[in-house]
Amino acid sequence: YNSLVENIVFKSHNAFNRKISLPTGALQSIARLNADRKEIAGALDAKRHAQSSIGDHIKANFGDPEAKKVALEDAKFLKIEIAHLEEELASVEERLLTLSLAVPNDTHPSSPIGSEDAAIILSTHGSDPIPASSARDHVNIARSLGLLDLEAGATVTGSSWYYLTNEAALLEIALTNYAMSIAVAHGFTPVTTPDAVKLDIAKRCGFNPRDPLSGSPASQMYHLTQHPEAERESSYPELVLAGTAEIPLAGMFANKILLSEELPIKMAGLGRAFRAEAGARGADTRGLYRVHQFTKLELFAVTTEESSDEMMEELKQLQVKIFEGLGLTFRVLDMPTEELGASAYRKYDMEAWMPGRGSWGEISSTSNCTDYQSRRLHIRYREGSSEEHRSTTVSTRRRPLPFAHTLNGTAAAVPRLIVALMENGVRFDEVGNVVGLNLPNALRPFWVGMGSKREI
Ligand code: AMP
Repeated sequence: YNSLVENIVFKSHNAFNRKISLPTGALQSIARLNADRKEIAGALDAKRHAQSSIGDHIKANFGDPEAKKVALEDAKFLKIEIAHLEEELASVEERLLTLSLAVPNDTHPSSPIGSEDAAIILSTHGSDPIPASSARDHVNIARSLGLLDLEAGATVTGSSWYYLTNEAALLEIALTNYAMSIAVAHGFTPVTTPDAVKLDIAKRCGFNPRDPLSGSPASQMYHLTQHPEAERESSYPELVLAGTAEIPLAGMFANKILLSEELPIKMAGLGRAFRAEAGARGADTRGLYRVHQFTKLELFAVTTEESSDEMMEELKQLQVKIFEGLGLTFRVLDMPTEELGASAYRKYDMEAWMPGRGSWGEISSTSNCTDYQSRRLHIRYREGSSEEHRSTTVSTRRRPLPFAHTLNGTAAAVPRLIVALMENGVRFDEVGNVVGLNLPNALRPFWVGMGSKREI
């Protein structure tokens, strides 16, 4: 009882630091529902076991019609009881999931407490920031060089939708190929991901479609309307457009038991990210900085509890390598509690200097989600190798298996990288007209490979 109370106090304090209000009594209800879940799951196991031994019982009493009749009667009852328990378990699990989505992950002891201003600068990279100047505004640069069509984006889809044109379209491909090549060289498996995902999977990853308290639909996700015929089938899942490839990448492991031997699993997923950005206002919405759709290469890792801190550092080092290779001036921040969202235990953001905007702009974000996502997606691992697995006895298998730890980090969020490259790399003539862009040499092999006619 004491440890339950301590846990509730600890989790309430953690939620307070993260500025997340918990529904009244949520933690107590979770503890109660969890106990119920264990009890029902135990009873269900026992009934299933009894069900599976009925066949043996009939075989053992072969030739005894009375015994067979009793056994078949028992089987009928068991079937009803099992269906009832399954229903009960599903209902308890549903309530547990709803409540657990309102509870944030625990927080790393080193994470600063407070709002964005409390972020700690861990390191800075690249040359000194060049002076801010409105002449370096990326929208003007892009317009001068014919690299962006916002008007067509507005006509065809709406504001904050865009076309990258000419060399900017090639730049998108060069940037993702460049980042992918570094990730692959560091042992990440290349993956292209589905951009539409089940709402249920998104929720289990910590992307809450609604404010859990008010229930208000403050969703940052685009919900897909199904074909009317599909919608009539109630089993058809509700789909959303993924806000990040982290969701389909994490979802790949749902309900899986991995072997510790195969961990860490490291993947680089290329996908489109879709963000409704409801409530995002002001200068941010100008040009490419905050848009509704963007191409993103996402790093994703599944590992053990013991090695997730180390993996977080590995992701950070890889990102530093990618952004240093692009010649960016950037800094790495240890993000404070109010910026961690629901799933992150610790978060590092990287911000590049954008002289046209006159500020540092976030270009990447890396989170150690520890077991937050794997508890909700049921991703566990078994100690040992595939050989040991084959010889594991039933009794060892019954011990609860540890949950895996998941981490994610941005390798390349294309529009923000284009903003930073344009605003830092623009070339002017003597009278201040935009005449071109200096692009980093590291992109050259990818750029040249596409046979661009113009050196911008
Ligand atoms: P997040 O998954 O929200 O941490 O975003 C990952 C990265 O994507 C951020 O660090 C930004 O570089 C970029 N990003 C996020 N939202 C947008 C947006 N609406 N438009 C363009 N880039 C974005």
